[in-house]
Amino acid sequence: MPDLSQRIKRLKASSTIAFNTRAAELRRQGIDVIAMTAGEPDFQPPEHVFEAARDALKRGLTKYTPSEGTPELREAVCAKFARENGLSYEPDQVIVSTGGKQVLYNAFQAVLEPGDEAVLMAPTWVTYPPQIELAGGVAVPVRTRPEDGFLPDLDAVAAAIGPKTKVLLINSPSNPTGAVYPPELVQGLVELAAEHDLWVFSDELYEHLIYEGTFTPAARFAPERTLTVHGASKAYALTGWRIGYGAGPRELVTAMNRLQSQVTSGANALAQHATVAALNEVEKTRAFMDTTRKAYRERRDALVEGLNRMGLTTPEPHGAFYVMADLTTIDPDEGEAALKLLEKARVAAVPGTDFLAPGQARFSYATSLDNVHEALKRIEAFLA
Ligand code: PLP
Repeated sequence: MPDLSQRIKRLKASSTIAFNTRAAELRRQGIDVIAMTAGEPDFQPPEHVFEAARDALKRGLTKYTPSEGTPELREAVCAKFARENGLSYEPDQVIVSTGGKQVLYNAFQAVLEPGDEAVLMAPTWVTYPPQIELAGGVAVPVRTRPEDGFLPDLDAVAAAIGPKTKVLLINSPSNPTGAVYPPELVQGLVELAAEHDLWVFSDELYEHLIYEGTFTPAARFAPERTLTVHGASKAYALTGWRIGYGAGPRELVTAMNRLQSQVTSGANALAQHATVAALNEVEKTRAFMDTTRKAYRERRDALVEGLNRMGLTTPEPHGAFYVMADLTTIDPDEGEAALKLLEKARVAAVPGTDFLAPGQARFSYATSLDNVHEALKRIEAFLA
């Protein structure tokens, strides 16, 4: 067989997906595993979104859309940012992509030269470093600590910025830590970026999953250098529909769309139509989010209390649906510790390795409260 590219040989598959696959394999062998690995709501999307998808099918909206997204969806995204975040965008500052993941991919490709650096917080979402590296860039992590609630220290961020830094990445609420940055921290980070003339990529996918504190959009402080990354996956439980959106400076968004037009020709037409309903039918969507948020919060409370009681310590996360817990009492190597949990307690959590979180693992509570209780019971029995 002819050779593969060096670039692809260096690229690792997503470890979240890999561990999830492993749990699914055990299940196929008849072993009952509680999977706390997925970054995916366990709820079905709200009925009005299904209705809009059925309507799109009936109307035969089955053709290519403009590569940057349908005008209706881009307008709905602008209305969302104005209504919920006080941000003012025109539709030509918005791009719709195949998930927030593709918005980020396009963005890194659009701004990074080989050797350029992107500063991010560790623990980090597993996808950022590979996407940065695929664009020829270098991910520069700034460590955040559980005892600080995984909030970054501005001096440490400043120290990580150098002559090659091009991007400062913010992700609040954070995957995997659940940290919600207070307004003054978001402002401080954006001001640092402005001082060093950096792009700010603000990944706000978990905006609507906040249990304490308030959400602060980074673009409020420097819209001229900020790309807001958002999408339908988390808040509206539309993961498989693959709709994400980015909003920011026209030149950047146009460049991202040039790439997208050559790579995918744009996002799925039916899913775009359905997402308009999720964004525009405000009251129905809000009711859905209130119900799901309440359920997540209850699960979080149970999980955080249980893990801390057993010495798998974690600060209380205020957003998203993840808990980053310390597994060093099980094994100093997080991969080994997660493997023991999987094989002995039959609970799957993702080891911290690819989150740049040694000694820790991520537990997702996007699973039923019964599963959370059962997982805790199993871990407790295993530890005993
Ligand atoms: N950003 C963060 C922090 C995420 O956790 C995810 C999904 O796990 C995404 C972006 C992208 O999600 P999607 O591509 O489904 O929109």
